[in-house]
Amino acid sequence: MAKTYEFVEHTHDVVVVGAGGAGLRATLGMAEQGLRTACITKVFPTRSHTVAAQGGIAASLKNMTPDSWEWHMYDTVKGSDWLGDTDAMEYLAREAPKAVYELEHYGVPFSRTEDGRIYQRPFGGHMQNYGDGPPVQRTCAAADRTGHAILHTLYGQSLRHNAEFYIEYFALDLIMSEDGVCQGVIAWNLDDGTIHRFSAKMVVLATGGYGRAYFSATSAHTCTGDGGGMVARAGLPMQDMEFVQFHPTGIYGSGCLITEGARGEGGYLVNSEGERFMERYAPSAKDLASRDVVSRCMTMEIREGRGVGKDKDHIFLHLDHLDPAMLAERLPGISESARIFAGVDVTKEPIPVLPTVHYNMGGIPTNYWGEVLNANADNPDRIQPGLMAVGEAGCASVHGANRLGSNSLIDLVVFGRAAAIRAAEVVDPKEAVPTPSEASCEKIMDRFDGLRNASGSIATADLRDKMQRTMQEDAAVFRTQESLEQGCKRMSAIWGEMKDLKVSDRSMIWNSDLVETLELENLMANAITTVYGAEARKESRGAHAREDYKDGPLGGRNDDEWRKHTLSWVDEAGNVKLDYRAVVTEPLTKLEDGGIDPKKIAPKARVY
Ligand SMILES: Cc1cc2nc3c(=O)[nH]c(=O)nc-3n(C[C@H](O)[C@H](O)[C@H](O)COP(=O)(O)OP(=O)(O)OC[C@H]3O[C@@H](n4cnc5c(N)ncnc54)[C@H](O)[C@@H]3O)c2cc1C
Repeated sequence: MAKTYEFVEHTHDVVVVGAGGAGLRATLGMAEQGLRTACITKVFPTRSHTVAAQGGIAASLKNMTPDSWEWHMYDTVKGSDWLGDTDAMEYLAREAPKAVYELEHYGVPFSRTEDGRIYQRPFGGHMQNYGDGPPVQRTCAAADRTGHAILHTLYGQSLRHNAEFYIEYFALDLIMSEDGVCQGVIAWNLDDGTIHRFSAKMVVLATGGYGRAYFSATSAHTCTGDGGGMVARAGLPMQDMEFVQFHPTGIYGSGCLITEGARGEGGYLVNSEGERFMERYAPSAKDLASRDVVSRCMTMEIREGRGVGKDKDHIFLHLDHLDPAMLAERLPGISESARIFAGVDVTKEPIPVLPTVHYNMGGIPTNYWGEVLNANADNPDRIQPGLMAVGEAGCASVHGANRLGSNSLIDLVVFGRAAAIRAAEVVDPKEAVPTPSEASCEKIMDRFDGLRNASGSIATADLRDKMQRTMQEDAAVFRTQESLEQGCKRMSAIWGEMKDLKVSDRSMIWNSDLVETLELENLMANAITTVYGAEARKESRGAHAREDYKDGPLGGRNDDEWRKHTLSWVDEAGNVKLDYRAVVTEPLTKLEDGGIDPKKIAPKARVY
């Protein structure tokens, strides 16, 4: 080892990495079941990106319109463009109401209807009658600060149990035994510079998405795909990375999010001719078609010269026809964001908006219990011992090629809870905690020390900027063979430049230069697999819309060849290997036992 680092030792049954909605729900569940649980987080729990979620959380409570779990499942299947795993999507839709009532009982201050029930709003792609409409009110909301309410409540509840929190600890890498079992993680205490070795029977990655691989993103600067980076370095695959969601309404310029709830409450988009163009593209769902569809239509309008503003490069979102009292009550947060970031009074003027990176459908492959899959084509369901993944870091896969709005918050709590249930079955508190592999720990600290002393010629911020602009230019809403091939070439070259990174601060205490360098390496593993996966997928599906594949009855989707998950590995030299895994098409429950009618969810063209 280049330099000897001493470890502060910890042993636990379970270590959860991440304290967003998914990590906290898993931590709470594990601790509740009597497992000795640690939760490690690089930011204070209530600063996790979940705090920024505005619109709400989907569950078929039927408080405001008729609804059923089958309709919710259908919408999720269709939203995923038939790439989601059917068993996981059934589990999500069925368990959702239970998970929301559980949040209510934990103390989440939901907005209320006149008669005191949880308020629910319409959201894109959520419809009645198996997609026939009209829109369903399924999205449970606490004004436009739903994530904030959930995160604070879950943190409070976690503290009631005996979970141990390690706050402002940066997890570096997974400790892997020689025979491939995950045995824990090593983390760096940012505050005092100590290195901590957590040995555990189960590690749960709940590290969130990697929106910051792109130049314009709605996500926090901390959303750097650290879990994906750790998994890639452990030689495990990631799944469906090419599917990156653009939210139609990021504020032009800053990227800050205007929730889809704004359109749910009656807002609409117009082009430079004052036309409500969504009526033309999606006659029935209009402005509430799903996100990939709306983002694409906006981009089309701009490309055809009907964008607004001096450079005709964005679109207007109107809320000024709505009742100001309703705006103040239901959408106070976004009214404030529009004022601060666009200088707009939403009661009088439209908001300038543009599609902005918002969510990663892909991630660490898991089954619907959150168990990580060390999968390949021949072993699609092979479980990786000692490792789980939940939340945006994972890929269960319920969102397939495109996530519906308000389906992520519900994914966090349903699968955070599922992981805890499963862990209680597979983790034996009486068994000894594994002795961590010294070889693995040495490798982890060598990498850390190498980066700490990196003395090349490129500053981390400059290389990050290069990566972000490349991803934004070559792997965004519109994609072609040419743009993606160029993206692969450029990203491989940028990977090569990581050898030449320069870290100027060598200290161990609050070394943000080193933190950002570790984050850049993680982002790179996510970004390069995204662009390579996208180049290889010769079809259009969900968020992966290719201009060179848009004809045919399914609009460029090719179920015969491409209804399969992409698996991707990246090695130290930046070589990407791809393989594929079959989509799970069987529901959990057979029709005769009360399951959904398989005919209802059979693939067809996706129109809204
Ligand atoms: C602006 C915005 C609005 C949204 N609105 C909605 C909405 O209304 N409805 C909806 O369903 N979805 C919404 N989403 C999506 C949803 O909020 C996210 O997908 C979800 O919150 C992700 O939660 P998570 O628990 O997986 O991760 P996060 O909340 O991102 O938390 C990640 C955690 O991992 C920790 N971590 C990461 N790396 C490390 C490391 N190396 N070491 C230690 N700790 C680490 C962090 O400290 C943090 O605690 C929104 C997203 C954004 C960006």
